[in-house]
Amino acid sequence: MAVKKIVTYPAEILEQQCEPVTVFDKKLSKLLNNMYNTMIEYDGVGLAAPQIGVKKQIAIVDIDDETGTIELINPEILETSGEQTGPEGCLSFPGLYGEVTRPYFVKVKAQDRKGKPFILEAEDFLARAIQHEIDHLQGVLFTSKVTRYLEEDELEGLEGE
Ligand SMILES: [Zn+2]
Repeated sequence: MAVKKIVTYPAEILEQQCEPVTVFDKKLSKLLNNMYNTMIEYDGVGLAAPQIGVKKQIAIVDIDDETGTIELINPEILETSGEQTGPEGCLSFPGLYGEVTRPYFVKVKAQDRKGKPFILEAEDFLARAIQHEIDHLQGVLFTSKVTRYLEEDELEGLEGE
C-alpha cells in the first residue's frame, strides 16, 4: 500500500467527468487501499480518485465515526432533502475553506469493491462529505458552491475532503 500524491487545483483532471468502473479486480482493491492511506496521511475525511490522478468514479469517505470507511464506486444520488450550511475544505485546495450549502440528507446507490450494489442513507456531516466526493467524480469542485470563504481565525480543527 502506498501514499499517493494529491492533485491540487488547477488541474484538468479535477474538472472532468470520471469514467464508470466496469472491472472489479485486485487492481481496484489496491487503488482503494492506496486512496485510504493517502486520505489518512493528509488527514482528510474523504478522497476521490481524480484527486490522485485517476479518472474513475471511485470515492471514499471516513468522517471518523462508527460508520467506518465508506467506499463508493459508481455512486449515484437517488434522493436528497433538507438543507445545511457549514464549513468545507478540500485536499486539492490546501488551506482553503468556505461555507457551502448542501442537502441535509442524501440517499445514494453505489457498488462496493466487489461490484455488489448497495444503498446508503446519510445525514448531516456524513451527507456533506459524501456529496462533496460525488461532486468530484463529476468534475464539480466545492469552490463553485462556496458562498463565503473563511478567514484563518475561523479555521481551527477543519479537515479537507
Ligand atoms: Zn475535495
